[in-house]
Amino acid sequence: MNKTLKTTAWRAIVGAVSAILILLVTQIGAMLIGSGVIALGLSKSVGNVVSAILYPLFALLALKLLCGKLLGVTLSDCRITRYKVKPLWAAAAFLMPAIAIAGLLMTEGHWDNTQMDGTQFADSITTSVFVTGLAVGAVEEAVFRGVVMKALEMRWNKAVAVIVPSALFGAAHALNGKLSLVSFIQLLVAGSIVGILFSLVTYESESIWPAALMHAVWNMCMASFILNIYTEPMDSCIFNYVLESKSTLITGGEFGAEASVISIGAYFIFIVLAAFLLSKKRRRAGIVLLTITAIAAANVFYFRTVDITGDLPDRGSAFAAEIPEYRFLILVNDKNSVPEGYKPDLTELSNGERVDSAIYPDLQKMFDDMRSDGIYPVVSEGYRTQNEQRQMMADKINAFENEGYSKMEAERAAREYVAEVGTSEHELGLAVDINADKEKSDNQEVYDWLWENAYQYGFILRYPADKCSVTGISYEPWHYRYVGEYAEKIYESGLCFEEWLDKESEVK
Ligand SMILES: [Zn+2]
Repeated sequence: MNKTLKTTAWRAIVGAVSAILILLVTQIGAMLIGSGVIALGLSKSVGNVVSAILYPLFALLALKLLCGKLLGVTLSDCRITRYKVKPLWAAAAFLMPAIAIAGLLMTEGHWDNTQMDGTQFADSITTSVFVTGLAVGAVEEAVFRGVVMKALEMRWNKAVAVIVPSALFGAAHALNGKLSLVSFIQLLVAGSIVGILFSLVTYESESIWPAALMHAVWNMCMASFILNIYTEPMDSCIFNYVLESKSTLITGGEFGAEASVISIGAYFIFIVLAAFLLSKKRRRAGIVLLTITAIAAANVFYFRTVDITGDLPDRGSAFAAEIPEYRFLILVNDKNSVPEGYKPDLTELSNGERVDSAIYPDLQKMFDDMRSDGIYPVVSEGYRTQNEQRQMMADKINAFENEGYSKMEAERAAREYVAEVGTSEHELGLAVDINADKEKSDNQEVYDWLWENAYQYGFILRYPADKCSVTGISYEPWHYRYVGEYAEKIYESGLCFEEWLDKESEVK
């Protein structure tokens, strides 16, 4: 390690570029062999493990050749040593994703986990742990923090060797998707910071393995099929925490949680730790470390309480959501969207459906009275997030496409059944679909009871059979809308909600 190794500019650049090409080519090779194993009849999990073993094996062999022939150095000159990781970095490998996950889970959201059979589960786990985690972590570190960093350091210096591959690393991740400018910049920043972190850790240990372990555990937690923390659930992921924040700073924009400010805060804590260990002036570095940790913690707390509004279209409503006495009269239909930033306080029912907490007591009372009349209802649909509404639309379009409709025809047909995002009353938490508990009652008796009694509990039938031309929605005997004290007046007027609101606003 003490010999001063030098090389020419072109050798350094060709070496760095070739190392990145090795990463790409050996990955494709290992994946193809893994697919071959699956094609031979072995399970996907076995194919995943085969790919995960071959990928670093091929990559390290190719890197060894490259280093020897072009740069005249060994793998251990490039800090690709025997496996060694200090307990401190092993702990950091787990702490860093733990901090990021804890921060993200503190923001608004809900769980939407995927039901999988044993085979899908094993596929998701083996891909996540062995391929996305261990293999990708090892190879990316061997390439970027091993060979690329060494090649640049041999021609230029350590600063160039840290900054350039980190920026490349960020750019490489940022280029693999069609991202908007903001997301691109956010990802470039996040990717570069991660690159700097892994570079410092590698220098501190004189080995790539601590960074490889941190990278592997991070990928398993944050970029795998085990846990997905994003604005939309993924069917291929076991656990999904669906973020309700509209701020791209929190959600990480189109790229996802790895580019979230919360993740960036977690990277930063460990950058400071690595810099502290590398530095001689430990006392001063310790103060900086504490300060930055405090700032990061304050940030997480701030983003938890303040929701920066994203770039959603402007929204209005017939009645302002903020005026308490009109709160239950918000009109939502195809012409009146859910007000921007509307966020009901929710209560979860025993079957997992959620409703606005303010309607819960009346809903509970209505259900109790219905049951004492020998009729057994269930809430089959309560509050729905915008993402769930978006997903419903996507699923419906898909279903029509599978029936042979063209994309455009499928979209048009789906709109007749599913409300556009922002135009469903279910997004308010004030609407419930009530059907029969099938084992004890039939739907018709539930609908009849509701029609005669629901107004006494503050609920109105929202889409009557004779008002389709006004509401724009076909008859839905199960869909009831909470309007509180106005329910009786609306019920007795014989008007639908739109007509009644129109008439009321004329009177005023
Ligand atoms: Zn409904």
